[in-house]
Amino acid sequence: MGVLWRWRYDYTGQINGLHSFCPVANCDMQIYGVFGPYRGPYQPTTEYVCDRCGHRETVVGSQEQIEDRVTREIQRLLRTETWQHALAGR
Ligand SMILES: [Zn+2]
Repeated sequence: MGVLWRWRYDYTGQINGLHSFCPVANCDMQIYGVFGPYRGPYQPTTEYVCDRCGHRETVVGSQEQIEDRVTREIQRLLRTETWQHALAGR
């Protein structure tokens, strides 16, 4: 199910204020990443735990790496038509 990401744009159009939310329908609680167990010597994980419904998601990477990846993915989607398809597919 993953993690639901929301963001804003600053005055230059750059992505600013990336926030993670619980993806469970009708929950929509903001959740924060905490250090999870390592999958390997250089593979940290981040756990997103919803303190409202208990949904737990483990994502490979440090929180910084994940947010960087999400930001780049948003930028990629905004550059391509994929974004429109993604919206239409909801
Ligand atoms: Zn939840």
